[in-house]
Amino acid sequence: MKIDVDVVVAGAGPTGLLLAGDLARAGVSCAVLERHAERSNLTRAFAVHARTLEQLDARGVADELVAAGTQESKLRFLGGHELSLPRLPSRFPYVLITPQYETERVLAARARSLGAALGYGTQVTGLARFPDRVEVIARADGRPEHVIRAGYVVGADGMHSTVRDAIGMPFPGKALVQSVMLADVRLRHTPPDTLTLNTTGGAFALIAPFGDGWFRIIAWHRDNQPPEDVPVSLEEVAGVARQALGTDYGPHDPRWMSRFHSEERQVPRYRDGRVLLAGDAAHVHSPAGGQGMNTGIQDAANLGWKLAATVRGWAPDGLLDTYHAERHPVGRQVLRASGAMLKIGLTGPPLLVAARNIVAAAATRTPFGPRVLAGAISGLSISYPAPRGAHPLTGRRVADLRLADGRRLYEALRAGRFLLAGGSAALPAGAVLARTVAGYEDRVDTAEVARPTGIVALIRPDAYVAWAHGPGSGGDQAAPIRDALARWCGASSAAAAGSVGSVIDGLSQTG
Ligand SMILES: Cc1cc2nc3c(=O)[nH]c(=O)nc-3n(C[C@H](O)[C@H](O)[C@H](O)COP(=O)(O)OP(=O)(O)OC[C@H]3O[C@@H](n4cnc5c(N)ncnc54)[C@H](O)[C@@H]3O)c2cc1C
Repeated sequence: MKIDVDVVVAGAGPTGLLLAGDLARAGVSCAVLERHAERSNLTRAFAVHARTLEQLDARGVADELVAAGTQESKLRFLGGHELSLPRLPSRFPYVLITPQYETERVLAARARSLGAALGYGTQVTGLARFPDRVEVIARADGRPEHVIRAGYVVGADGMHSTVRDAIGMPFPGKALVQSVMLADVRLRHTPPDTLTLNTTGGAFALIAPFGDGWFRIIAWHRDNQPPEDVPVSLEEVAGVARQALGTDYGPHDPRWMSRFHSEERQVPRYRDGRVLLAGDAAHVHSPAGGQGMNTGIQDAANLGWKLAATVRGWAPDGLLDTYHAERHPVGRQVLRASGAMLKIGLTGPPLLVAARNIVAAAATRTPFGPRVLAGAISGLSISYPAPRGAHPLTGRRVADLRLADGRRLYEALRAGRFLLAGGSAALPAGAVLARTVAGYEDRVDTAEVARPTGIVALIRPDAYVAWAHGPGSGGDQAAPIRDALARWCGASSAAAAGSVGSVIDGLSQTG
């Protein structure tokens, strides 16, 4: 049966929007269905970390978002401990403080400009699965339900995902903290630091700027936890802030106040046949460390090119399943770390507070602690499993190297394709990188690095190393490049295949 669209993405949050842009960029038809009629000016996330900014840079939209936010180069921990970020090996050595609606604005504009159809005011109400398609039942505002036939469906529809429920995917986990108050307010006095937070005597408060004169206060008190449907009063928020911070900075004119509880949950499988789950639909966790939106965006960056390759018919066997294999462990680690951060942060008894302070001091002041912590929070240390004996760079994030043509490597990734990058020193006489990818020109670009190190690397569209060869390769363990191309990029186009072998045989014996 003919399908209406290659992929339906349920939910126009940050996860769904980045994914839709990537699919459209790869020439895959894509419809995003979002139940809200308009984008909201309310926000949950406000911290965008370095790895997410790198992913946005590889899509040409990081600079616009950075211009709209405030750069915070220190992370503050409870107990007065600070972690300096400028040593992060990234073009973005900071946390960008900007409201989630800004991130969504930038991603929506990109998705639309690349040709994704964004259907606001359309709610997914159910799914029917068939061997060759998924039928999505949707209802647009004021109209009867209609059916959209899609090749694949991605549930990026948040914590209460309809897509997840429709396929009967369990979402096991537990509640973490109750009755956390959020208030978006103006302040009479601007706090001296970008991020202000502390906990004392059972009270916790955090104040963050939106950059447009509005501030977000998050406040929680161990001894005051009314049910979620009890309205929040400004005096209640200000009182807890005063207790935690010593002052409340004079909040007034709240535009939005709410109470929420935090849960820790993850689906056991990110893929079930033609249905995939990403972002909060797949994992939710404590907001401590500001990881949720960042993790969702990176899920989408991992999934987009694999799903596009599958739809376009060149994906090697098993490629789409690597989405679960790579991202589920990352999600599990985020659950653990953010849950631990929350428990440590909100801990009350004096002995535990002392223990927390010792741990925080060790993590922020010892020689290795800061690097490990900054790598984890920024997302820069995320890596994916590599086969035994692979080059040490395999599965790791690629650095933003300068290229011989003057561009940065992340600029060269903006086409959303694989990139074979290396330097002349790594090539056999007369060979050029471009010739080594003959038969793969529709999927793989090439680039010479400005300062060759003897390494040639096949870089995935999501800026992780698929394969590398050169210094660091152990003996004969490095797979020849033709195997790497076939393993990651599928079969080459038949016409050119004959001429590829001889050139890349030469390349694989060098370095
Ligand atoms: C107080 C707080 C602070 C936070 N701070 C941070 C932070 O600083 N940094 C960070 O990284 N994360 C933070 N988070 C988490 C972050 O907000 C989420 O992880 C993020 O919004 C997830 O993005 P998403 O696109 O996966 O889902 P969502 O943002 O939830 O988007 C899902 C979309 O799907 C739509 N939808 C739902 N059901 C349907 C349906 N049936 N049909 C059509 N559309 C549907 C929804 O309307 C919504 O637009 C915070 C969370 C909270 C609560």
